[in-house]
Amino acid sequence: MSRETVVDAHTHVFPPEVAHDRAAFAGRDGWFAHLYDDPRATIASAGDLLASMAAAGVTQAVACGFPWRDLGLCREHNAYLDAVARTSRGRLAWLATVPPGLGPDAAAEAQRCLDLGAAGLGELNADAQGFDWREPASLAAVVDVCVARDRPLLLHASEPVGHEYRGKGTATPDRLLPFLSAFPNLRVVLAHWGGGLPFYELMPEVAAVAARVVYDSAASTYLYRPQVFRTVLDIVGPERVMFGSDFPVLRQAPFLRRVREAGLRTDEATLVLADTARQLYGLVPPTPHQADEDST
Ligand SMILES: [Zn+2]
Repeated sequence: MSRETVVDAHTHVFPPEVAHDRAAFAGRDGWFAHLYDDPRATIASAGDLLASMAAAGVTQAVACGFPWRDLGLCREHNAYLDAVARTSRGRLAWLATVPPGLGPDAAAEAQRCLDLGAAGLGELNADAQGFDWREPASLAAVVDVCVARDRPLLLHASEPVGHEYRGKGTATPDRLLPFLSAFPNLRVVLAHWGGGLPFYELMPEVAAVAARVVYDSAASTYLYRPQVFRTVLDIVGPERVMFGSDFPVLRQAPFLRRVREAGLRTDEATLVLADTARQLYGLVPPTPHQADEDST
């Protein structure tokens, strides 16, 4: 029985100890406290993600951790992601987190994680981790690792307009452009539709700087009407758009249904729902497994 391939290019999972003792971690990281001191804010494990994928028909997911400011917390989270990816039979790929403002120490951890098999770095977050996208020189050590290995960097991006929400931050298109200009050989993924950067790509000079950027749709329904898919595809093309839920922020099954109803052509849907992410992150299709096939 063959199934259509769907890749969720943007999800977040935590080690169980973080879910069990969120207050302790809130005491160790200001941005974590900002997002998760509300007990209704869901903290998902890899097991939760795999269960959601099975229910939603998502074949493969790219799992991110959290943009901890402390390198030690990043290391622990990276170790968890590596471990769960290894036992996932290819269903989970992972991105490593480092605080890029730390320079050589962060670069060494990035290198270590790429050696382990991380598909890239991210989701990095300037507000969470205390650095500034407008000061690209301070981020060069980590960027150089990604460029040398040709691995992408996923960045949190947010809108300069619209409603406020927890975790929005200040990574707006005007701040991201100097970073993109400084590293023309870096593969960049901008989360959350790049904070609206695709719309500015109607300006030729912006399109030139953003030409290598791939956008993901993480948390889309909290931010935009479903027409955002059609509109962005018409501006940047389906090779530069990836389906990403921001799980557990969005539930995969209903969001995937909405995307399927968003008026994408079949060739576009193939790219957006799987092939763009596979190509960019170098994903190998999951190992077929009888139990999975039988479960549908
Ligand atoms: Zn984000």
